[in-house]
Order: sequence, then structure tokens, then C-alpha cells
Amino acid sequence: MTITAEKSERGLALVSSITSRKRLVRREDKDSSQRIRFAVQTAFLLLNLWIGVQFWMWVRWAETGGQTTAASRPAGVEGWLPIEGLMQFKYVAATAHLPRIHPAAFFLFSAFVLSSLLFRKSFCSWICPVGTVSEYLWKLGRQLFRRNFTVPRWMDLPLRSLKYIVLSFFVYAVATMSAEAIAEFVASPYGLVVDVRMLNFFRLAGSTTILVLAGLAVASVFVQNFWCRYLCPYGALMGMISMLSPLRITRSESACIDCAKCAKACPAVLPVDKLVQIRSAECMACLECVAVCPAKDALSLKVLGGTGARSRVSPWQMAAGMAIIFVGLVGYAKLTGHWDTHLPQEVIWKLVPSANEQEHAIVGNEAP
Ligand code: SF4
Ligand code: SF4
Repeated sequence: MTITAEKSERGLALVSSITSRKRLVRREDKDSSQRIRFAVQTAFLLLNLWIGVQFWMWVRWAETGGQTTAASRPAGVEGWLPIEGLMQFKYVAATAHLPRIHPAAFFLFSAFVLSSLLFRKSFCSWICPVGTVSEYLWKLGRQLFRRNFTVPRWMDLPLRSLKYIVLSFFVYAVATMSAEAIAEFVASPYGLVVDVRMLNFFRLAGSTTILVLAGLAVASVFVQNFWCRYLCPYGALMGMISMLSPLRITRSESACIDCAKCAKACPAVLPVDKLVQIRSAECMACLECVAVCPAKDALSLKVLGGTGARSRVSPWQMAAGMAIIFVGLVGYAKLTGHWDTHLPQEVIWKLVPSANEQEHAIVGNEAP
């Protein structure tokens, strides 16, 4: 999918490379995109850390039968359950009913989809804490080695398809489940504590898990966004949705001086300096390319088909748009009572301590 898209992108939008030196009309504005993005990333990272600590406290409280400090379960933890989000999404699409168990998974998944639909794969470069940590790591690598390393093209292309293969497995599994099967799975003892199992995966990580995570972290120091680029099925899904976005990084051939700074800065290794529009599913709308471009009006994030300054989307508008999506959807869920999962205390005290012993719910032949 990516390979085809990129080929057609190159075929359609490839323009002549450097043929003559053009006069630089230096931009006067001071770029603030990376400061704004960093602030949004940090806010989401801190929010997720808070959710993680709060959730861990809640799990400890439930495991000890109320002996530790009481904490309420933060529903935001369901943002870490993408498969559940996908299932809930299908359930709502099929039944037009909002789920009662883990409804926040549906609203958060919808917010991620909507942000990708409107602002390209901004989920990865503005919101996702894994993407943020990944970015810190490759920036550390750049500090240490004065560069990041690129995977050779013959290896890069097949590696990139891995995330789509993983994604298709999950999409197929969810697509073949009926709405009834989803409801049954989500309400099963296993489904009720998938969040606790996810915490246990990290909390009780064995040596293999630790080795794999350490390997990914080390690879991310050398190769920009290693996990996101090659393995993350969530990023793959957001990338595919982002192809429908009305926004594109757009280069003005007349204003561009062909300095190639944008291509060098692009963490997705896209040939920004050679294209008129970036249509690739790998573009994360991080605006790194725009930030380094020295030429006035040469590079910007634009609404498709728009002309003039009004078609440009500023980083402030992106940040505000994403805030509206999140505050709007989460606010709606909270106001209508579709945010928290309400389970009897005895069910929580029974299931949480034995989360890892719960058998995967086989729903007919349709288990995910
Ligand atoms: S093209 Fe620009 S916005 Fe897209 S990933 Fe590359 S640097 Fe980021
Ligand atoms: S950074 Fe890219 S878009 Fe800007 S002038 Fe250089 S080549 Fe052109």
C-alpha cells in the first residue's frame, strides 16, 4: 500500500531537480511550529504518565482488596487499547449504540481517527507518547553521533510493510466479528481486565520482553522513529486514514531554492525537496520540514486545492484543532455518562488480582 502510494507519488509529483540557482527571498517570520508541537507532545506525555500512575494505583488498590491508597480508575487508560477501540468502533457503527464497557476506548479511538482525517498522521508526531519518546531517542542519537542512520532502501521498503501486515491481521480479526460477538467479548472476564493485562505486560515483563523493548529503544537511537516507521500497526492505520486528509505539505517551485534542507530534516525520509505535494502515508505533519525552510512561502501545510495565505494551516491552528477534537469528544462522553466503566466493587476485587489467569474469550469462531 505504502510502496504503491509512494511510487505513484513519485510518478505523479516528481519534478525536475536542481537545474539552476534561484534567488533566495528569505522568510521573515520566526517559525514556532516545533515549540508548539513540543508543548503539545509534552502535555500528552505528562497526561499519559499521570494516567499510568493513577491506573497502577487503582490496580494495586484492587489487588490488595482496598489495603493501599484508594484511587479511581482513569478511563483514559483505554487510549492504550487500540484493538478494543477498533472493536468498539465497529460495534457502534453496526448497532448505533454506545458501549457500556470501556466506552472511553471508542471515544479516544474516534478522536485519533478524526485527528488523522483532518490533520494527517499528526497523531504520531503530536499526540502519541510512544512517538514522542521515539523522537527524543533519535534526537539523542543525533546529538551523540551528529547524525541518524538510514536503513538501505532494499531493506526499508519490506520493513515498512511489516506494520501493514500486523494491521491487516487485527483488522481482519475485528472485521469478521459480529456486533454481538464484540459485546460478548468485551463483557467477558478477560475483556473486562484487558487493561490490567496490558499493565501487567510491562509491570511483570520477563527477560524476553525487556530485551525486545531495549532493542527497540536502541534501534530508535540510531534510526528515526524505528518503531513507528516499521512496526506500529496503529501508525499504519492512522497513515492510511491520513491519505483522506484535505491537508498536504506543499512546496512552491517558484519560491523554493532547492537547498534540500527540508528533505534532510524530514524524519520520515521523504524527498520533500523534489515533490510539489507530500501525499505519502508516512508524512506525520510534524512540520520539521517547514521549520527549516529558509525561503519565504516555499513550504507550508496547505488545504488541498487552496491558494494564497488563507489556505495555509498554522501550527497554532493544528494545535487548536486537535484540542477541540479531544476536549469535544471526551467532554461529550463525560457529560453523557459514556466515559467511565461502572463495575461492582466485588467484580473488580475478584478479577483484577487474577487478570492474567483469565482465559481469552472464544466467541464462536470469531475471537480477535
Ligand atoms: S514531510 Fe514534513 S511534515 Fe511530513 S513527515 Fe516530513 S518533515 Fe514532517
Ligand atoms: S527547504 Fe526545501 S522547500 Fe525550502 S527552499 Fe530548501 S528545498 Fe525548497
